[in-house]
Amino acid sequence: MEDPEVLSLTRGIRLEPDVYSRNKAVASCSFSPGTVLLSVPAWCMALVPSEKGHRCDGCAVRVGELLNCSGCRGNYWYCGTKCQRSDWKARHKHICRSYPGFVQSDAYQRLPPDVQVDATLLSHSVARLDTNEISPLEGGRSSSPTSVFFSLLPGPVSMSAAPPICPLNSRNLIPAKLVHEVYSRFGNNNFVIHSHLNPIGHGVFPLASRVFNHSCSPNAAPKYHLVPGEVPRMDITALREIREGEEIAICYLDPALPFQSRQEHLQAIYGFTCRCTRCSFESQLGHIPSPSHDPHESQQLTRALRAYVFPSGFHPGQAIGRSDYSDAYYRMPENLYPVLYQSFLPELSETFSRASHEGSYDVALDAGLTLLAFYLLIYPPNYPQIGLHTLEMAKTAWNAFISGDSVIPEAQLSQMTQWYLTYARAVLDVLGPEGDEGGPLEEVETLSRLLRELQ
Ligand SMILES: [Zn+2]
Ligand SMILES: [Zn+2]
Ligand SMILES: [Zn+2]
Repeated sequence: MEDPEVLSLTRGIRLEPDVYSRNKAVASCSFSPGTVLLSVPAWCMALVPSEKGHRCDGCAVRVGELLNCSGCRGNYWYCGTKCQRSDWKARHKHICRSYPGFVQSDAYQRLPPDVQVDATLLSHSVARLDTNEISPLEGGRSSSPTSVFFSLLPGPVSMSAAPPICPLNSRNLIPAKLVHEVYSRFGNNNFVIHSHLNPIGHGVFPLASRVFNHSCSPNAAPKYHLVPGEVPRMDITALREIREGEEIAICYLDPALPFQSRQEHLQAIYGFTCRCTRCSFESQLGHIPSPSHDPHESQQLTRALRAYVFPSGFHPGQAIGRSDYSDAYYRMPENLYPVLYQSFLPELSETFSRASHEGSYDVALDAGLTLLAFYLLIYPPNYPQIGLHTLEMAKTAWNAFISGDSVIPEAQLSQMTQWYLTYARAVLDVLGPEGDEGGPLEEVETLSRLLRELQ
């Protein structure tokens, strides 16, 4: 695969040689936050088991009435004839007959749900291989998604770890070597398709994999478009201002994971050691002390974290104006290192969710503010999780206001709701709406309206 062929598919991005990976994507011009840098349709897609029968197997759109494929009754559903026809031609005709037996088999049933969806995705990938398109393996060249897929570097996998695949119609036998070629590029190029950040399927987007490297502090992120009758699209979107000449990178995992977990995951699935700015910084921190379970010391730590991130208290104007906290992260004082310990985030999130669920609003608002301080340090600016969390905080403050179940004065609670909503909107607007209709941006509008009606 010649670089110019990949380049012809992108605008404003050039591929340059890189020290640690094959290439890096570099911005040829500056991009403002929210700019779509690359938009690509899924080469292959499979729904997660819990969404099967609720969404179209072609476009992943959630509709009330779905058409059932009569060949494999109860296994593939479509929003209409357009999706059914195109899916049939692209892949389904090769597996329709054998799919029901495949999903009933012990080999499939034994797999965890996450691997089941990969087994189906791998089956879809193999089923859609058109013998005319396989030429790139033999050295042919074209810029079709299949060729781009085969131009990807294989990951560190052995065939013994491959999930079972659905047998194809005997007339279309695919050689084992080819299945291996597909599988070896599979795990490391497999994206979770989400709607409002809830996983709905797994998909392969070869061009996005080919163009963007990983960083634990990325400046871009994928979002997904679901349109009835069309395959899901991925938009790689700028999270912040990207300057000309800067590398554009996405994060292959949740950036909130601790250093060790990120490194292990990247090594196992992608076969590389991450040397991004953040990993270089964290690798030098040495031993991370665990946070104390003494209530007084634990409170001291969370107070210190909040005072560090919000020196004059949380105010959305201030926080939005200063949306990039990476400098603060790299200058973090040593007494805050325990927040990087692996159990800190899960325990804090658990306290926040449990308290807001149980109606202990004051506890929830307190833990949630600490969580926001942590997110702002750890996530890149405008990362959607920050927006979703501030929306949760707005809802919690609103519920506290409505229930009267709080020691915080009402006026302060409605002000808090307003602040968190303002902040949530500013962050979520950058990535924009994704997936199904509705979602967090609409929730922001609904709650804003309720708040206005009150005044
Ligand atoms: Zn459809
Ligand atoms: Zn079928
Ligand atoms: Zn890294």
